[in-house]
Amino acid sequence: MYITLRYITLLLCFHNCVCLGQKGKFLVPLKGEAGRDFFIDSYFDHDTMSSIRDVFCGKRTYDGHSGTDFCISGFKAMDKGVDVLAAANGRVVDIVDGNFDRSKQRNKHGRGNYVAILHEDGMITYYLHLKTKSICCSVGDSVVAAQKIAQVGSSGDSWNPHLHFEVKDMKRKSLDPFSGSCADDTSHYWISQPKLNTNLTIIESGFVPYIPQLDSLQEGHNVTDTFELKHDSLVCFWAYLNGLNFHDKLQTKWMKRRVTYTTNTYLWRNARCHEYYWSWIKMPSTKGVWHVEFSVNDVLLSTKKFYLK
Ligand SMILES: [Zn+2]
Repeated sequence: MYITLRYITLLLCFHNCVCLGQKGKFLVPLKGEAGRDFFIDSYFDHDTMSSIRDVFCGKRTYDGHSGTDFCISGFKAMDKGVDVLAAANGRVVDIVDGNFDRSKQRNKHGRGNYVAILHEDGMITYYLHLKTKSICCSVGDSVVAAQKIAQVGSSGDSWNPHLHFEVKDMKRKSLDPFSGSCADDTSHYWISQPKLNTNLTIIESGFVPYIPQLDSLQEGHNVTDTFELKHDSLVCFWAYLNGLNFHDKLQTKWMKRRVTYTTNTYLWRNARCHEYYWSWIKMPSTKGVWHVEFSVNDVLLSTKKFYLK
């Protein structure tokens, strides 16, 4: 009986060791639901030249990108706190903290605040751009899969709050944990590979009395729905969107009593997961309630009103 049990134990151990060194080992390293609380923004770049190619043969990556970017809905969500989780059991081997964490554009500050975890099979996972002082583990700590280690931030080379998750093999070569038709390796490293959410949705929208800077929209300052003819010279509609694609037709119709005053049309030139769009008009001279209809590829996404006093 003892021998049989030991034999079973050895078999289990062998099986586990094989699993840890091979595929299907990582949990998605964020708390919440993919496509609701966090979104895949950029994949690993499989093109070794100056072009780009993601694992699915698309262009949802950027040149030389060596990890996966998971974005969250923005700075409000970051302030509330989105937990970063250990993707598998391991030991914390490196931590950097204390860097500015509200970066809104590309810069030369690299990883920012980060954690690195060495796993039992010798692979290392990196968790970059973390929120300052949110790291809740120390170098040398053993962590288990799904354990909170920090929160999402925007430190280092970051333009919005996101987690750059990177996997390095035993030779410290970065690899893509996803599988797809354009990857060298056909098996993914996820326990359950997260899906890209391409649903076109408005996360937030509003009006401001000026042509905005991206910074001001990201921080959500001065949003209003009431304007004064004698003070305000323009009205700007903005929307924060998920799921836009290259060459989508964005249209804003400005209406008074359902009569179109003017229409602004724009062809989109980007394909990141979350994007800010804005469109403005000189302040019309007719007071009252105005409606703004916003559509993408002729499908109405939102109707919003503002008041002109
Ligand atoms: Zn990245």
